[in-house]
Amino acid sequence: MTLPVTLTLNAGSSSLKFSMYNIAGAGEPQLMAVGGVENIGGQPQLKTQFGLNEPAVKQDLAAVQAQDHSSALNTALALLREKFPAAKASVVGHRVVHGGPHFSKAVVINDAVLKELKSLSPLAPLHEPHNIAGVEAAKIHFPDALQVACFDTAFHRKHPKVNDTFAIPREYYDKGVRRYGFHGLSYEYISGELERIAPLLFAGRVVVAHLGNGASMCAILNGRSVASTMGFTPLDGLPMGTRCGQIDPGVIFYLQQQEGLSVDQVRDMFYYKSGLLGLSDISNDMRVLLNAQVPEAHEAIDYFVFRIRRELGGLAATLGGVDALVFCGGIGENAVEIRRRICEDLSWIGIEVDTNKNEANAQVISTEFSRTRVMVIPTNEELVIARAAKRLLAEQQ
Ligand code: ADP
Repeated sequence: MTLPVTLTLNAGSSSLKFSMYNIAGAGEPQLMAVGGVENIGGQPQLKTQFGLNEPAVKQDLAAVQAQDHSSALNTALALLREKFPAAKASVVGHRVVHGGPHFSKAVVINDAVLKELKSLSPLAPLHEPHNIAGVEAAKIHFPDALQVACFDTAFHRKHPKVNDTFAIPREYYDKGVRRYGFHGLSYEYISGELERIAPLLFAGRVVVAHLGNGASMCAILNGRSVASTMGFTPLDGLPMGTRCGQIDPGVIFYLQQQEGLSVDQVRDMFYYKSGLLGLSDISNDMRVLLNAQVPEAHEAIDYFVFRIRRELGGLAATLGGVDALVFCGGIGENAVEIRRRICEDLSWIGIEVDTNKNEANAQVISTEFSRTRVMVIPTNEELVIARAAKRLLAEQQ
């Protein structure tokens, strides 16, 4: 007997994250395995975890086992087949970073959709081509499976026009130069969790802070994104592990004209050498910075916290107040000290955090008198993809 499963794939420049969910029956997809191949094309490593309560296992791979996305997928699949011989992938769900102006929900990838995704590559040259490589690889490995695209931009597509534009000549809006917003799969998950555990808050004014290696914030009104800190690319807004976040465009002209840097050098600096890494000159990893006893590390953390508080004020103004502030992502879910500092002296906005609850990483970390409920909800982007894959598969049958 075969077991219907969905694979979710998240292909980055040198990594391929995957998960496998049991989609038999009517309920939620059930996680069977999660993992990833890192350093594709270099000295690759494979990380796997079979079920959330099992330990994660890391192993080195030979270079030929992951010289490109297709061979990395092959290696991961061989492991999954050995562990779950009865599993049959009926549908593969892909995380696709950019859905352009039109895709406002997950879609089945047919030839026309694939063509449109390729046409969107110039909007996200560092991400989209890798996502497409993941689709191409999965089509070869699973010619009979349904392929589904889930977009990081989709959740924001219905945000108001005023948050969709930049104040540059109008013709560029029509050419696609818009404020798209990203991390949409995470925001969709958090919004769904709020609807489930706190429906009144879901129907209210919510700010979600997704603070991981990539970081952004989103203002959500009655389940709908109304503003977010990322814009045309996932570079805007908050400083991140290695990305600079909001920057005066004049800095770009200066770096090119006065410092003689090329377009590619500036781009690489802003994407890979800035943020916490650039400011601290030590690491992009918040844990390392929190333990580093040097002023540069403190300054990087100060800037991270400062920008989050500043954006929180702006998003709160957009919403006319905040009923709930939700933290997620590796830093948001774990960094007690960062949450404490972000929420310090915010009683004017209705936020009062309970020190003990914060230290315990409780789901609700605000005091019972806090007007705004402050919550920690672990995000789960893979589950959002698995749900969409299961739903679209059912619609096809
Ligand atoms: P990505 O955006 O790559 O998915 P994650 O959501 O996994 O990233 O977040 C990674 C970040 O979370 C790193 O900066 C890491 O240091 C931070 N982090 C994870 N656990 C902790 C912790 N216990 N305390 C502080 N920071 C943490």
